[in-house]
Amino acid sequence: MSNNLNVNVDKNFSWETIQKELRHQFGNEIFESWLKKIVFEEKFTNYILVSVSTRFIRDWIVSRYLDQILGIIKKFNKEIIRVEFKIENKVNNNKREIEFGSDSKVSFIRDSFLQYNRIDQNKSFENFVIGQSNKLAFEAAKKVSEKIAHYNPFYLYSGVGMGKTHLLNAIGLKLKENKKVTFISAERFMYQFIKSIKSNEMVKFKDNFRNTDVLIIDDIQFMNGKEAMQEEFFHTFNSLIDKGSQVILSADRPPSKLVKIQERIKSRFSGGLVVDIQSPENDLRLKILEKKVDELNMLYGEKLKLSEEILNFISSEIKNSIRELVGALNRVASFSRIYNRVPNLNEIKIILKDLLNINETKITIDIIQTLVCKYFKISKNEMLSSRRSRYLVRPRQVAIYLSKILTTKSLPEIGREFSNRDHTTVIHSVKTIEKLKCDNTEISNGISYLKNQILYKKENEI
Ligand code: ADP
Ligand code: MG
Repeated sequence: MSNNLNVNVDKNFSWETIQKELRHQFGNEIFESWLKKIVFEEKFTNYILVSVSTRFIRDWIVSRYLDQILGIIKKFNKEIIRVEFKIENKVNNNKREIEFGSDSKVSFIRDSFLQYNRIDQNKSFENFVIGQSNKLAFEAAKKVSEKIAHYNPFYLYSGVGMGKTHLLNAIGLKLKENKKVTFISAERFMYQFIKSIKSNEMVKFKDNFRNTDVLIIDDIQFMNGKEAMQEEFFHTFNSLIDKGSQVILSADRPPSKLVKIQERIKSRFSGGLVVDIQSPENDLRLKILEKKVDELNMLYGEKLKLSEEILNFISSEIKNSIRELVGALNRVASFSRIYNRVPNLNEIKIILKDLLNINETKITIDIIQTLVCKYFKISKNEMLSSRRSRYLVRPRQVAIYLSKILTTKSLPEIGREFSNRDHTTVIHSVKTIEKLKCDNTEISNGISYLKNQILYKKENEI
């Protein structure tokens, strides 16, 4: 037997299996560099707790991979709707901690895993879908890829998951046909810098970065290093611009809002062309979904066919980021693969629950009572009466139980809404149903059904 502490006792939930799937879906490089660092701590009813060693790693994983990770976990356990991270500084022999910047720590694993200049063939101008919100950024990026050093530097910013890396990658892909392109994340740049100092290879570092025609640095907001590094970066930057090389940068905010970056660097960033990508409009979201469905079918031989209703639902509900939108579609595709059919709208609401803006505070005891009465075919007056017939007692207990688990109301508050019953009655009902749920499948199925109804039915549908 494995003595891996990460293996959970819950038979249906093995962290090892999830890790395998993470490695499979993200590939070795990302898995070894980042995801392997996630330590499983504990599983709760609808979330899991994991830990990583630094805040930086947590932010990195959360901003890039969380959505997909959650999708994978859900495949094994549908109940899980979120992953919570805590920072746990366990001693680990595989990694060194190098401090730079006043309060940030970055931990590294063996460098062989971290490689840069990995331009992704699948992120090109051709498969970048254009709409109002990203048209300007797309056109600017296109121009930069046609004539270098005209807009210098080219600075692209937006919130996460809006297509910055995709566009940067597209520029790199195009220019690398006949130019020397260096594509690196800011985090990797810092890593290289520190490694070079430690191994006395600063000359090599300088040569490497100053001898490129195009330097693309992604997520510059993560560059928050010490003075010496900023100094070096400033000189690299100036020398590239002076010799007519193109510098391209992306960040999650405009240059003026960057923190821990020297003023003079920020002002250099603003000196070329600064363009942002706005939040995607509905039309663009729909076009992206359609395009991605085509890609899945064409490139990966899927046979995914989503109705207009479903496409409209996903595109109108998932507004914040294109990454989330694509992630949502991938979940739907995984479901279809596993069950050999497309999920219906209700199932989609469940699969995407954590991404949808379903406001749980809207769940009221009144709604719970209405739905429970409908389910058991009794009237609300009967539910709220003092009669103790068996066919009324059970539904009443179920409604009380659901009120307890789905709202934040206290026991006395719940009692009051059930015709001023005492809080001890509420406790008794909750205990009775909890017990019945374990022993009686009919009850437990009924409760799952009602829970879904309450969570996913909008008020006006009742
Ligand atoms: P960012 O770097 O801004 O966080 P990414 O470039 O990583 O965002 O985009 C997130 C995901 O959405 C990627 O899979 C990317 O290919 C996809 N994506 C973003 N914008 C578009 C677009 N306009 N057309 C097609 N795919 C897009
Ligand atoms: Mg990015």
